[in-house]
Amino acid sequence: MVKENNNTNELIVDALDGVGLIDYERLVKEFGIEPMSEFYPNLPEELQDYFMTRGIMFGHTDIGKVFEAIKEKKPFAIMTGIKTTGKYHVGSLSTCHEVIYFQKQGGFVYFCLADLEAFATNQIPLTKQTEIAIDNIADILALGLDPEKAYIYRQSTEPIVQRVGLLASSTVTMNKLRSTYGEKSHLGYYNSALVQVADILLPQIMGGPMPTVTPIGADQAPHSRLTREIARKPAFADYNFVDPSFTFHIMMQGIDGSDKMAKRNPMSVFTFDEPMKDIKKKINNALTGGRDTAAEQKEKGADPSNCRVYDLLSFMFEESDKALLERNRACKSGEILCGHCKKYLLENIEAYRANHLEKKENLIELAEKIVKDISKPLN
Ligand code: SF4
Repeated sequence: MVKENNNTNELIVDALDGVGLIDYERLVKEFGIEPMSEFYPNLPEELQDYFMTRGIMFGHTDIGKVFEAIKEKKPFAIMTGIKTTGKYHVGSLSTCHEVIYFQKQGGFVYFCLADLEAFATNQIPLTKQTEIAIDNIADILALGLDPEKAYIYRQSTEPIVQRVGLLASSTVTMNKLRSTYGEKSHLGYYNSALVQVADILLPQIMGGPMPTVTPIGADQAPHSRLTREIARKPAFADYNFVDPSFTFHIMMQGIDGSDKMAKRNPMSVFTFDEPMKDIKKKINNALTGGRDTAAEQKEKGADPSNCRVYDLLSFMFEESDKALLERNRACKSGEILCGHCKKYLLENIEAYRANHLEKKENLIELAEKIVKDISKPLN
């Protein structure tokens, strides 16, 4: 989560512990994030993704150079990854959506299985992460990642990120690390953060200087700033790094009304592998902006801006902007009740889930091959 450093009042990232409530305006101001709302209207309509038009991808740093590369059909990279701690869940879909969007525009994806980070922060033995990684990769392939246009690797078996992470560690002070990530109990937290810096620089180390976009949640803003600072250090001058670009998306909050989707709070999140009856239970218990009684809601209307059902529709389960806007209007005017929205959302989740699981089943073998090949030094 992003929180204030008690001593300096600066915002620091606690990305390694999860996500909390975020002051987006302050993030934009303090981290030099530029509003996406001022950028995307200048893009050709076919490039205006709904994450932009709905304000989910709310900001960016230096994204212009990536779109310049798209326009001129020049090489650019997309950097992303997943911490291999468990099942791929609905809260991870935002990043994947953006990665696939940029891949479809011609970018080459570098996909990191962040197993060193999972070891450092969750103490999961590396060999135990292999099965998790296979499952995660099968999900990502089912969501549409094209493996032919991607370099998928594990941090623990990719020597470049380990080496560059180590080199990066000598270019930052402990004070800088503490002010960025907060006080940590062991060096593994800081080391894994520096390996993640190296992950973001990897496309340019392997492919030469080029625009690179890393889609991240708002909670990662301090990490993005540190990465850009390290990329400019004289020690790395030989690489001629193009400043890495970032897009920032809003973090989905817990379905149950908690401030984050967390695997350790199962009512806050769901995976597509869960039985539909469990997902139904979660959606039926979701926080909504509805009133105490149906009569009151019909009279006064409800609040979609504080409603997890509306959030889920907006993030991924309502394709039509027009239908979403209409729901927003009907909610505020009291013309619809929350039960109506939950039913509609569940129908959409059920269809999406069935389609996803069918694709995933057919991709497990490929995922196994990919992960076993890159895990060889480990297993
Ligand atoms: S009517 Fe729908 S959008 Fe409005 S608060 Fe209820 S569930 Fe949310």
